[in-house]
Amino acid sequence: MNQIIEFFSKLGDTSDWPPRWYCGTWSEFHGWLYIASDLLIWLAYMSIPLILLRFVVVKRGIPLKRVFWLFGAFILLCGLTHLVDAFIFWVPIYRISALVRLLAGIVSIGTVIALIKYFDTAVGLRTSDEFEFELKYRQKALQALERSNEELKQFAYVASHDLQSPLKTIEGYLGLLESKYKEQLDEPGLKLIKTTTNSTHRMRDLINDLLEFSQVGLGQDLSEVPMDDVLAEVLEEMQQEIDESGAKITATRLPVLRASRIDMKRVFQNLLSNSIKYSRKGIQPEIKVSVREKAFEWVFSIEDNGIGIDEIYFEKIFQVFQRLHGRNEYPGTGVGLATCKKIIETHSGRIWLNSNLGKGSNFRFTIPKDLKTIYDYES
Ligand code: ADP
Repeated sequence: MNQIIEFFSKLGDTSDWPPRWYCGTWSEFHGWLYIASDLLIWLAYMSIPLILLRFVVVKRGIPLKRVFWLFGAFILLCGLTHLVDAFIFWVPIYRISALVRLLAGIVSIGTVIALIKYFDTAVGLRTSDEFEFELKYRQKALQALERSNEELKQFAYVASHDLQSPLKTIEGYLGLLESKYKEQLDEPGLKLIKTTTNSTHRMRDLINDLLEFSQVGLGQDLSEVPMDDVLAEVLEEMQQEIDESGAKITATRLPVLRASRIDMKRVFQNLLSNSIKYSRKGIQPEIKVSVREKAFEWVFSIEDNGIGIDEIYFEKIFQVFQRLHGRNEYPGTGVGLATCKKIIETHSGRIWLNSNLGKGSNFRFTIPKDLKTIYDYES
C-alpha cells in the first residue's frame, strides 16, 4: 500500500533514475536507432486512429462502431508507450511509462474481448461482393415481378375492355326496350328495366374503377411533382362537388417531390372526395391537407370532420371492393382506397389512418424523398 501511495505521489519525479542515455553504455548509433524506431512506430500508431476516426465520421452508419473506437484507443495507447520510451532517453519518467503501459494493457484486453464478442457479427457482415450478388439477384427478381405485373395489367386491360362492349349492347337494348315498349309495359315491368339499367351503370363504374386500379404501377413517368399544383388542379376539377357540399378545404404549403404526377393526383382525388362524401349530415365538411417533413420522407395528412371509421375496419377498407356502407347510403365501388394503397406502395410509401367514429378521419401517407424504381438501376 505504501508503495502505491509513494508511486502516485512521485509520479512525475525523475530523481530515482538517470536518463536512459546514461543507463548502461549506448553508442550514438544504437541510441538513435532505438529512438528513431520508437518515434517511427509512434508516428504510425498515431496515424492509424486518425484514419479510423475519419473513416467512422465519413462512412456514416458503419456497423460495430464501438469496436472501431476501442481499436483506435488501443493503437493510440500502444503508440504512446513508444513515445514515452524515446522520451526516457532524456527524461526518466519511468512511473508515467508504467501507467501508460497499464492503460494500454487494459484497453488492449478490452479490445480483445470486444473482438471475440463481435466476431460472429463481423463474420456475418456482407462483403461488397456478397452485396453485389444479392443486389443482382434482387434486381432480377424485381424485373420478373415487373414483367408479371405488366402481363397482369395487360390482362386486366383487355378483360375490362372486352367486358365493356357486351355491357354497351345490354345498355343499348335496355334503352330500346324502354323507349319502344314503354306503353305496353306495366309498372313492375318498367321497374325491372330501371333496376337492370342501374345495375349496368354500376357494372360500368366497377369495370372503370377496376381498370384504373389495374393500370396503377410505377412506370418511367416519374418527374419532379409540385404537390401544390397537383392539389390546386384536383380542387379545380372537384369545384362542383365542393360547392354542393359547402366543404371548407385548407392546405399548408406542399413540397415538390419525385413521383408520378398522375398517381399523386389520383390519391388526392380519392381521399378528398371520400372526405366530402363521408361527411356528417348537417355538418359543414372541414378538410385539412398538410405535410410533415421527416429525415427520409414526407408525411402527408388529409384530415376531415366526417362520419369517421371504426378501428376494426382500418385494414379492411384498403382492400378492393370493401365498403362499409350500402350503395343507397353512399355511392361508390370500394376501389378508391385500394387504388391509393397500390399507388403509395409502388412509390415505396405507406398509407394508414386514424379515426374517431362520429368525429372524423385522418388519412396519412408517406413518399420517400429519394424515390428509386427498378428503372433507376437498369443499365
Ligand atoms: P368507396 O368510397 O367507393 O366506397 P373507397 O375504397 O374509397 O371506396 O373507401 C372504402 C370505404 O372506406 C368506404 O366505403 C367508406 O366506408 C370508408 N371511408 C373511406 N374514406 C372515408 C372517410 N374519409 N370517412 C369515413 N369513411 C371513409
